[in-house]
Amino acid sequence: MSTSGIAEAESTEIAPPPTEPIADPFVFNGETMPGMRDQVVTETVETRVWTEEVGAADGSPPRSPDRDPTYRNDPATPPYSAASPGSPPPESQQLSDAGAIIQGTLHSELERVQLAREVDVRAAFAGLPRVHSHWTHRYMKILVVGEAGVGKTTFIKNLFAAYASDPKFPVADTPARGARKASLQSAFQDNPESLCTEVVLQDVERRVCYHYRVQDTPAFGDGKDLDSDQAAVLDHIRACNQAFLDAEQDPGRRSPLASHPDPRVDACLYFFPPHTCRANDLEFARLLAAAVPLIPVLAKADAMTSEELAGQRARVARALARHGAQWTFSPRALAEAGAHDGPPFAVVGSRDMDLAVGRFWPVRRYPWGRVEALLTRHSDLPALRRLLFEAAFEDLKENTDARYLDFRRDQAAPGIVAVVTTPVRGLVKLAEWGFAVAAVLWLSQQAGPLLTDPKYRQRKLEDVREKVDTLATNVRETADEVRAKSANAVGTAKEAAQNLTSTTRDAAHRANRVLEKNVTSRERRMEQERRLRYESRPFWRFWGE
Ligand code: GDP
Repeated sequence: MSTSGIAEAESTEIAPPPTEPIADPFVFNGETMPGMRDQVVTETVETRVWTEEVGAADGSPPRSPDRDPTYRNDPATPPYSAASPGSPPPESQQLSDAGAIIQGTLHSELERVQLAREVDVRAAFAGLPRVHSHWTHRYMKILVVGEAGVGKTTFIKNLFAAYASDPKFPVADTPARGARKASLQSAFQDNPESLCTEVVLQDVERRVCYHYRVQDTPAFGDGKDLDSDQAAVLDHIRACNQAFLDAEQDPGRRSPLASHPDPRVDACLYFFPPHTCRANDLEFARLLAAAVPLIPVLAKADAMTSEELAGQRARVARALARHGAQWTFSPRALAEAGAHDGPPFAVVGSRDMDLAVGRFWPVRRYPWGRVEALLTRHSDLPALRRLLFEAAFEDLKENTDARYLDFRRDQAAPGIVAVVTTPVRGLVKLAEWGFAVAAVLWLSQQAGPLLTDPKYRQRKLEDVREKVDTLATNVRETADEVRAKSANAVGTAKEAAQNLTSTTRDAAHRANRVLEKNVTSRERRMEQERRLRYESRPFWRFWGE
């Protein structure tokens, strides 16, 4: 159809079907996203032109091979059934009705009925019903974990760079760098929302609001209290599930659950520092992977050469696979996001913006060149963003739902240990109460006469005194007995010592005598040798020894 045809039709009294003004389909914080707008507006304009051309009289769009998969198999669809499947209707056919009206040739009742019938037939086969949808909200929450200074905050800033117009885009972080660890710890435990950065994107066309959230966590692995760092993050994941469960089961809830913010964690990005893959990191990654999909990130990729980066990538992937701690993306999602090298994803981040390139273009400048954080050749950050927020969005949400169902089942039906121990615990509690009641009864029985009857009280006191006397006598006798026994033991020990001394002295005497005997025989031997030497001396040796 030519555009002149439309212009001709519009010049008559017959107005074209009413069209809505074109809305900007992607809006971030009230601002249109340029790339997305171009893409979606093009589609909208095409749709509208198509509607003006051959749409039904009620304004509903015509059947289109692109929109309605059943179109090609439907022979009853006039007048396109004659056309080759998949191609738009011939121009002459589309213009026939409008041309007839314009030329004033459509006057007879029969023709009017025929045209009305044709319009009804078209409307009847106009495709799927088009329900006017309300706005829905979709949530994606990502946890960022790693040691202090590994580049988490910078990464969050750069991750949202595509959506933010302001280079000073605020990241939820503790402002005081001095007391960073302590303040992060307490802020995370008291109010994790204070470390959560959120962007909201509106897809006007599909009427969906996407809430992307990135939750910063306290620095991990500086060697002080690893266990409490780990426990805080794992508790947070559990608390998020619990919050969703509370909202789900809240009897006072007055709106559908779908309209409530979803606090559940969908994925965890674990930041490995360059060049190292420590046992602490692997252990924590293993614990996290049991709770959420774990996506390894190699931080500060620009600090490694290509060979070192390849080595680090392989080392981390191998170690995580050994620990069974790595979430597997579908090949479709990886291909769609253009993530050819990851996971692990090697990222570069920077707070330094190159304002000449665009409104938000983070770069790291060095004397020998520059690294651009959003350049696919330099950093996996753009691929990772596409993967998380677009290509693998539904996969991650499905996984979150499946994990949540497990969590809900565990909460609703405690394990076998609990099933066994709960009645036992109940019995123990009952016994405790029984003892307490019996003790109170006994005391009240005993205390009644004690308080009211002086004779009884006197008798009881004498009883007690007698018992105390007996006890004291017993103690005294026992002490005497112990003293006598210890004196006995001392005597025995002294006797044994004397015996030992005399035995030792005898042994010494005997040894002395043996020694003396040996000395005598030695002297005799020496004398004999001397005499022998003297007798066998040469004739000229006239002097003695
Ligand atoms: P966090 O403590 O983990 O939040 O780390 P920060 O985001 O505060 O970053 C700590 C320092 O590392 C800052 O000076 C950043 O400029 C720097 N940094 C962040 N990302 C990178 C990177 O990819 N490469 C290099 N070389 N430095 C980075």
